[in-house]
Amino acid sequence: MNQMKNPVGVHALVWVGNTSPDEVEKAVESTKASGYDLLELSLHDFKNLDTRAAKEALVKAGVGVACSRGLAFDADVSSDDRAVVARGEKILQDSLAVTDQLGAKILTGALYSALGKYSQRLTETGRDNVVKVLRSLAQEAAGRGISLGLEICNRYETNVVNTAREALRLADDIGEDNVFIHLDTYHMNIEESNFIQPVLDVGDRLGYVHIGENHRGYLGAGSIDFSSFFQALARVEYSGPITFESFSSAIVSETLSNDLAVWRNMWDDGHDLAKRARTFIDAHVAAAANGER
Ligand code: MN
Repeated sequence: MNQMKNPVGVHALVWVGNTSPDEVEKAVESTKASGYDLLELSLHDFKNLDTRAAKEALVKAGVGVACSRGLAFDADVSSDDRAVVARGEKILQDSLAVTDQLGAKILTGALYSALGKYSQRLTETGRDNVVKVLRSLAQEAAGRGISLGLEICNRYETNVVNTAREALRLADDIGEDNVFIHLDTYHMNIEESNFIQPVLDVGDRLGYVHIGENHRGYLGAGSIDFSSFFQALARVEYSGPITFESFSSAIVSETLSNDLAVWRNMWDDGHDLAKRARTFIDAHVAAAANGER
């Protein structure tokens, strides 16, 4: 039995819609009060983030932190256009610096492309650009003790990696030890054949997990087979973070809502949502450790 060894995290957008010092402090305190170990901070708005204040709040509360982000169509390392790639690379380098300043050891997400519907396939040049940029970013990250995650996203949000197998191939091509795979049940539900084989395929290269329902609302209120997924995590003895991710237009700003296609109010009370999610995750981790279905 290896019950409860995973740090359990919650995405900051469950709590607050932006990264002003007050909002970040509120997110940190809410994370702590709801019994989570880790806060995932999206760096989409990192220019307005007071990293010193954020780090202070995290340390004071004893809450861990992981950083995440996606790119944009005009700053996209999977592009064929050098200027667009360069803008994407700059954002990644700046995000790595912020990750370091916050004391985080994980920078993950769609680091390899914009988050949005592509109108054509990824080109060979575009994929080469992803490999080159992420290889050099990973080398820089290694010097700071930071690992990079490749979050596998569905076809409507990227054309670079939609499945675990594609992500493993990309990580192989990048070829750096501090690049791991990040699985998200919401995306897996759209792209994978089941919730077990991808986890087994990724194995010890799994470094981060997002737990989200098929509609990104309350856990257990949708159709995802979480029992299978948590059993697979137990089988590969996954000990990394398990982070709850959920979005509602009640919290998420309009621009980000547009990027994430959050058109509906899935919930109003982030505290109730997070408390129930924590209980749900704990119960599934425990059941999987005991070999229950
Ligand atoms: Mn995710």
